[in-house]
Amino acid sequence: MEQYPQSPLMGQMMSRPLLISAIIEHADRNFGGNEIVSRRVEGDIHRYTYRDCHRRAKQLANALTKLGVKMGERVGTIAWNGYRHLEAYYAISGSGAVLHTINPRLHPEQIAYIANHAEDQYILFDITFLPLVEAFAAQCSSVKGFILMGDADRMLATTTIPNLMCYETLIAENSPDYAWPVFDENAASSLCYTSGTTGNPKGALYSHRSTVLHSYASAMPDSLNVSARDTVLPVVPMFHVNAWGLPYSVPLTGAKMVFPGPALDGKSVYELFEAEQVTFSAGVPTVWLGLLNYMVQNELKFSSFKRTVIGGSACPPAMMKAFQQQHNVEVVHAWGMTEMSPLGTCGTLQSKHLALSAYAQQAILEKQGHAIFGVDMKIVGDDGAELPWDGKTYGNLLVRGPWIISSYFRNEGGDVLVDGWFPTGDVATIDADGYMQITDRSKDVIKSGGEWIGTIDLENIAMSHPAVLQAACIGVAHPKWDERPLLLVVKKPGAEVTREALLAFYEGKIAKFWTPDDIAFIDALPIGATGKILKNKLREQFKDHVLPTA
Ligand code: AMP
Repeated sequence: MEQYPQSPLMGQMMSRPLLISAIIEHADRNFGGNEIVSRRVEGDIHRYTYRDCHRRAKQLANALTKLGVKMGERVGTIAWNGYRHLEAYYAISGSGAVLHTINPRLHPEQIAYIANHAEDQYILFDITFLPLVEAFAAQCSSVKGFILMGDADRMLATTTIPNLMCYETLIAENSPDYAWPVFDENAASSLCYTSGTTGNPKGALYSHRSTVLHSYASAMPDSLNVSARDTVLPVVPMFHVNAWGLPYSVPLTGAKMVFPGPALDGKSVYELFEAEQVTFSAGVPTVWLGLLNYMVQNELKFSSFKRTVIGGSACPPAMMKAFQQQHNVEVVHAWGMTEMSPLGTCGTLQSKHLALSAYAQQAILEKQGHAIFGVDMKIVGDDGAELPWDGKTYGNLLVRGPWIISSYFRNEGGDVLVDGWFPTGDVATIDADGYMQITDRSKDVIKSGGEWIGTIDLENIAMSHPAVLQAACIGVAHPKWDERPLLLVVKKPGAEVTREALLAFYEGKIAKFWTPDDIAFIDALPIGATGKILKNKLREQFKDHVLPTA
């Protein structure tokens, strides 16, 4: 960790450490009666308050202490977005242990690798993941026991899981008398592994300080803009970068929280939005696609939903327009990554933009946005020299700030920083007003005849065609140009478009050299554990694709 010089005259303010437990304590004291509503894995709707959540988190903290969990030790969770998971967030980190959220969409072998790498002492899991836990439990050498997040009547006598305990029994057996310990704010609080499309996943180890600062910054009006007047439904899972910090920023503001549990299909999400009068949500584009399609098919409208943050991969402008124009829902395009807790940028307008035409405003909002305070960005060329903020020059995007990793857990990958900056692996432009736009992930960029072709633009154009549901662009080997773009398209159900018509759709929208050489229509795109399109799989699948010669 970096050390900085001390001034001969230090400030005279209290040095209360920034601790995660203070968030749930604050929510209990100030918004104790505000609701947390969860669609449970059991199928029903559960309701209680921040006060109840705090009480049960303290009961769980007592249980963990009795089980021998010590400060700094890791405790894993494999769970959907729900109230018990929220209790675990606060009980584990608040007691000084480290919350390790595990992505259940990973392969059991990868989960075993992660749990062993993290040296998890216990793993808490939702009943839906019982077969998954059975598949990897025997391979976890450090785990002393597994805790099923359910009632005692859900316990199975026949399971092969060693030392299986019942969450509700542990809660019932333990007192809510628990004083959250006070310790150094730089202590580790939670651990999240990157999805790792290549190589083994690497862990981002957050601290109490980084998490609390990220919560403040992410709740601000030009970030997620969460307030006590909101009802927030995090669609983004609590097992993927802590649901973009919402389990912290929502209790911090006192907003009502609504958890969707495992039911993320369009119908279930829509019904919960309406029943609980959700005003704000956040998620990756693939989930919103399901919701929007369900609403179009059933001619439905939202009655309370006002604003959503979309990120994790580029939000197609067509999706942004559908939300804005058909549903009157404001879309904030955000960018970040696991290594950044995750928030880096959010796209909102400034007062000087309000007089611009709707078209010009839209062009600004389609970018990934400006840095939120705490995140410093720059773009550099391959030689490391900084590039201008002119909105045209693209380069490798580097970041630094108090909620950005300085190294991976257990120093995997060695020194990752470049002169104190974290290389994001994204390629971007930044304009004179500081709005950043991602052109591509550096490993997805198509290198054609010495020029770089960004695939996001090509995909966004395809997705603005009425017959296209999803599109992904990859580079395919070409004898003359090294690589040329191949567009893979999933059509909307019942819609038709030919290869020629879709290629013609690019005319006038993009430099001719960027136009894809070919289009292949496929039934579905491969989606990874965090809802992103797996381009490495597509590249493998289409590596022998022969492009037309003309
Ligand atoms: P993860 O760590 O799994 O959250 O992935 C982070 C990566 O997702 C980033 O480095 C970007 O490549 C991509 N990403 C996240 N948000 C966006 C966005 N709004 N537009 C384009 N790419 C994004």
